[in-house]
Amino acid sequence: MTIKNSKLTRRSALKVAGSGLFAGAVGTTASCGSAPKQAAGPAPINGIMPWSNWSGNQVCYPAERARPRNAEQLAKMLKETTGKIRAVGAGHSFSGLVPTDETMLSMARFRGISHINKESKEVTVGAGTRLSALGDSLFENNLGMINMPDVNTQSLAGSIATSTHGTGEGFGSLSSYVTGLTLVTAAGETIKCSATENKDIFDAARCNIGSLGIITDITLQVRDSYYLKERSEMLPLDEAFEKMEEMRLAKRHFEAFGLPHANHMLLIEFTEVSKEESDANQVEAGETGDAYETFRTLANVIDALPFLRGTVMNIAPRTVGVEERYGAWNKIFGNIRDMRFNEMEYTVPAEDGLACFREVLDTIKEKNIDVIFPIEYRYVGEDDIWLSQFYKRPGAAISVHNFHDKPYESYFEQMETIFDRYQGRPHWGKLHNKTEQDFAALYPKWEAFKALRSELDPNRRFINNHLNAIFPTIG
Ligand SMILES: Cc1cc2nc3c(=O)[nH]c(=O)nc-3n(C[C@H](O)[C@H](O)[C@H](O)COP(=O)(O)OP(=O)(O)OC[C@H]3O[C@@H](n4cnc5c(N)ncnc54)[C@H](O)[C@@H]3O)c2cc1C
Repeated sequence: MTIKNSKLTRRSALKVAGSGLFAGAVGTTASCGSAPKQAAGPAPINGIMPWSNWSGNQVCYPAERARPRNAEQLAKMLKETTGKIRAVGAGHSFSGLVPTDETMLSMARFRGISHINKESKEVTVGAGTRLSALGDSLFENNLGMINMPDVNTQSLAGSIATSTHGTGEGFGSLSSYVTGLTLVTAAGETIKCSATENKDIFDAARCNIGSLGIITDITLQVRDSYYLKERSEMLPLDEAFEKMEEMRLAKRHFEAFGLPHANHMLLIEFTEVSKEESDANQVEAGETGDAYETFRTLANVIDALPFLRGTVMNIAPRTVGVEERYGAWNKIFGNIRDMRFNEMEYTVPAEDGLACFREVLDTIKEKNIDVIFPIEYRYVGEDDIWLSQFYKRPGAAISVHNFHDKPYESYFEQMETIFDRYQGRPHWGKLHNKTEQDFAALYPKWEAFKALRSELDPNRRFINNHLNAIFPTIG
């Protein structure tokens, strides 16, 4: 089988490489079929329905499930009960932020835009609104989010709870675009906060890991709607590293995907374009599958023939041509990730990002770590939010993944020792092994956050097992 370089896109080429090119080597593709897209669900216990997160690595059996209809009902519930409560958004966190065996609280009924200030371009949004729905509503009103994460299935409150971010050093995380929010405390008290009202609560609550109270609405800074061109190109590794520092400063958004065991890297840039340019460059909708599925196929090939790993990972990228996509901001941002995986992400100081990324890729090769899942590399601007990974420090966020049904612990631990050498701060919603001592050293405002947390939640209603290691009881 021959592969014509120029005709292939990054998705189709890798698919060809994954299924066809290596079919001969393994005899048949039948033994290399895709793994199930959905993690197999856990069973009910004693009549209690299980809850699990997106990747299936967090499971719990909440005794109660609450879905308040409005802020008054929520406040009443908090006033009249005393047990533990964990809010859940879209369940897209990999870390144990959500699990509880007491009350799980969904804010899914707090949805949609309740107010638009056309002059200041601020919108007030229900905490449970999914980013995809918010994107559509903003677009209808000729408005746009300033930046967006990799997918748009998260809830707004869940996203800001962990400083969820996209890429572009000129942009902050979603939390940094919050200009006000309303929080209901453990005792049922409603507090509004912004840069001019309850400023300490505002600085803590914009990245709160669900530990301060329940957020009912969020006001966000947005902008006029816009159009984007996405361009991706696979380059030889050294050439890619040379280009990256220049792209970091020159491009609106820029990210890279490093391929383990390969001598190539995928660079993706996003540039703002006019509506006319976007309209003129629309191509017939082609394949919109999940590129990660292709890597799953490759992983199956490598499982069958592990000695082929280097060859597979070095031939497949060479088949990939330049790919361009144009469209409205809410269509270009927001990939579809059907293929389930687990993830760890650390943010290191932006100026150390490339050295750390290089060390990650070199270590995987040198230690022959059994992984082929691409490593994502992004830049994020600094902010002043107490527990944000980007607090007073522009960051390079480096994410390592493995498929949901593959072991990740040893791989992630090895990567974590590298991130630690660069004073990396873990993404709150992704896997890490940090405890309170580590956070106290990483976050200058740690003690202030802890003190405020104790004041707002003296009886530790919002603390589950995962948060107990982060905010242990003293003595
Ligand atoms: C496929 C995938 C892609 C991802 N891409 C990115 C990315 O590009 N960039 C990035 O930074 N992260 C990314 N993430 C991580 C994800 O954005 C975060 O983990 C985010 O917090 C998940 O939002 P959620 O709505 O699912 O919240 P959940 O995971 O359900 O909850 C997260 C936290 O928010 C709290 N919470 C939820 N609602 C409320 C509320 N109303 N009041 C108070 N606390 C609340 C919860 O208690 C919990 O502590 C990705 C995750 C997945 C699975």
